[in-house]
Amino acid sequence: MKSSPDKITLIGAGLNGPLLAILLRRRGFPVEIYERRADMRRVSSSAGRSINLALSTRGIYALQQADLWEGMRNIIIPMKGRMMHSVAGELTFQPYGKNETEVINSISRAELNIALLNAAEERGALIHFNQRCTGYDRKTGAIQLRNELTDEETTNAAAVVIACDGSASAIRTEMLKLSRFNFSQHYLDYGYKELTIPAGAKGKHLLETHALHIWPRGNYMLIALPNIDGTFACILFLPFQGTDSFASLTSEAQVVKFFESRFPDALSRMPRLADNYFANPTGTMVTIKCSPWHVDGKALLLGDSAHAIVPFFGQGLNCGFEDCTCLMELLDRRGSDRARLFYDFEKERKVNTDAIADLAIENFTEMRDRVADSRFLLRKKVELALEAKYPQVFVPKYAMVTFHRIPYSVALARGAIQDRMLSELCEHIVSVEDIDWQQADQLIRRDLTPLEIRQ
Ligand SMILES: Cc1cc2nc3c(=O)[nH]c(=O)nc-3n(C[C@H](O)[C@H](O)[C@H](O)COP(=O)(O)OP(=O)(O)OC[C@H]3O[C@@H](n4cnc5c(N)ncnc54)[C@H](O)[C@@H]3O)c2cc1C
Repeated sequence: MKSSPDKITLIGAGLNGPLLAILLRRRGFPVEIYERRADMRRVSSSAGRSINLALSTRGIYALQQADLWEGMRNIIIPMKGRMMHSVAGELTFQPYGKNETEVINSISRAELNIALLNAAEERGALIHFNQRCTGYDRKTGAIQLRNELTDEETTNAAAVVIACDGSASAIRTEMLKLSRFNFSQHYLDYGYKELTIPAGAKGKHLLETHALHIWPRGNYMLIALPNIDGTFACILFLPFQGTDSFASLTSEAQVVKFFESRFPDALSRMPRLADNYFANPTGTMVTIKCSPWHVDGKALLLGDSAHAIVPFFGQGLNCGFEDCTCLMELLDRRGSDRARLFYDFEKERKVNTDAIADLAIENFTEMRDRVADSRFLLRKKVELALEAKYPQVFVPKYAMVTFHRIPYSVALARGAIQDRMLSELCEHIVSVEDIDWQQADQLIRRDLTPLEIRQ
């Protein structure tokens, strides 16, 4: 790709599209993006998928590569840990990391998207809004587009197409027709709904600002992330069917009664609960795995179009941004052989995106259920103690995923070993002071090697 003047056509100006455009423009490529929605800077749209995102090390690294991170510091709120709310309203704070630098950052999806769109255009990318990609010709490389306002249909030649069009990718739909294309999608039996806690007087947050709030209730949960305007973006995760499900909460009275009994301290801060509940759609959550991600050197899937994951590790966007930096690193090293570049990209990424997909499913049980359990809290303390004593060797699974750029597949494999180690070390103890350090030494030396840590 290096020596080629070919224009790169991106489908989708969500989060990955504009970031990739910026990184490609820095390398001199002409870039055009086709986006099915209207320009969100001019037309306000109703709430889409979760209004807030947790941005962590992998995403920040990508924004640094695009020279955007420093400018975003005023639109993020660092969250230092989980604040758990019991039914009785008791609060338990559990730090995410070993110190104040290990935080995750709450950012509004819309503000991030707007910053990326502005930066992509400033750097010379051409963005066409209201243009839905409806097809892709694998032989000629042409894309079919429909103007969402006029219904006008056009066909555009495209030497290279990169699909950044999310989990329902139109380009991937076309690739389903390839012989030996592997595809799986798995929906959770749970849905989600966005709710809001408004700001208090003078824009003050009504809950602790620097925390991700969780109301874990075993089979379901409510979470809340802070916004810079003093509000909290909340997400209610519930089964679709059964008792305490979206199917069972169909009237205003049922919703309020449910919150009164399960989330009373949240309800007292949600004066418009029922309005929000019935105005916002119920979202679905899907894990998508597929391969290959590319058609020769002509088309490539990236971000959610290649690997949608469930949101419970807060990594979908971070992982997509890491796709972008990985592709650029390979491009800088490999140069012009596009077919080879796309092949190497999938080879390097797929094992890792499969790993984070599995980790995200696993983290759902942890968030909705185990975070409220005292044995689990003890394990977390033991993890931090082990990390303090063996910093290059024992890094908690959450930290490997969130605060480092250790490949996700390594985090998954080492995380499983560490989980077994923690079970052994915690079996007969009641406090972190009781750790048997001799046993810990033996287990660490036997099962773990030093880790290459990238921040
Ligand atoms: C409830 C929830 C919470 C989440 N929380 C987090 C979090 O805390 N941290 C995190 O890292 N990730 C999180 N994620 C995941 C994150 O939102 C996604 O991974 C990320 O948005 C993927 O970016 P993308 O650019 O690949 O796709 P998208 O953001 O979905 O963007 C795709 C774009 O393509 C456009 N498009 C679609 N089809 C077409 C077409 N045919 N033609 C033209 N344009 C098209 C769409 O309009 C959209 O603008 C969360 C997801 C959900 C559902």
